[in-house]
Amino acid sequence: MQRLSKILLYYKFLPISDPKAVMLWQRELCERLELRGRILISEHGINGTVGGDMEACKEYIKKTKEYFGKMEFKWSEGSAEDFPRLSVKVRDEIVAFGAPGELKVDENGVVGGGVHLKPAQVNKLVEERGDDVVFFDGRNAMEAQIGKFRGAVVPDVETTHDFIRELESGKYDWMKDKPVVSYCTGGIRCEILSALMKNRGFKEVYQIDGGIVRYGEKFGNDGLWEGSLYVFDKRMHVEFGAGVEDPGFVQLGHCVHCGTATNKFENCGNLDCRELTLMCPECASNPAKRVCGKPECAEVVAAQGVATQA
Ligand SMILES: [Zn+2]
Ligand SMILES: [Zn+2]
Repeated sequence: MQRLSKILLYYKFLPISDPKAVMLWQRELCERLELRGRILISEHGINGTVGGDMEACKEYIKKTKEYFGKMEFKWSEGSAEDFPRLSVKVRDEIVAFGAPGELKVDENGVVGGGVHLKPAQVNKLVEERGDDVVFFDGRNAMEAQIGKFRGAVVPDVETTHDFIRELESGKYDWMKDKPVVSYCTGGIRCEILSALMKNRGFKEVYQIDGGIVRYGEKFGNDGLWEGSLYVFDKRMHVEFGAGVEDPGFVQLGHCVHCGTATNKFENCGNLDCRELTLMCPECASNPAKRVCGKPECAEVVAAQGVATQA
């Protein structure tokens, strides 16, 4: 009989006086349980995704809670095979905002972060405050091309490192007195982002418990979320509710070449380019068209085409 496998996703903000010791313990624990995945540990907490045998996952949760106390683990489909190896590392930050000195954490989590809202409370806030409420996307801008909260502000962010520059640019000062709901995939980024915003004069900042994932599970395509959710695994995107067939589903993404509706990102035909670009299946399967839009990539791809014909 095939054994059941699962993936666990989790994080917890908690002061850790000796991250190295915790890292060594976590590595030993995962090796013993034959779990694979990625775990980051800093003096502010832990952020991990591991996969393996169901029973091993349960044992991992039990042991990890013995040290970290109450924390939430999200179960997802998958196994150890979804990861190339086990990686357990100490970093300055468990999410790389480039602000390790600014983040304050105590036994209750991040100090000075945004107010946590459950998915239903997000809707209630919008019912009460209407258009005054601003949704602020806490992900990389690219992810919002296929899905975001209705009317959300999407900052010009390629990596999490860009947020501080964006927040201090003045572009978003107009929302400093408004209710701002920061959101991200699973909630961890906004734990930090919402604190960084408050430190920079945004007065009324919220974050969504469990992020887009929990909101989408609760409201599907019938709430304030529109489109697909970008995910960092081989699926690339997921939909809520009945998916793209759902009458409430809004397709936000379009092929950069022909405009056909799509929610699938593709790699650029220039193999040195890391850009993910929305392309329909037809354009993606045409080597001449499979480019991200940067002129230098178009040149490389054109040269490849010439080489193939020759
Ligand atoms: Zn196309
Ligand atoms: Zn490119």
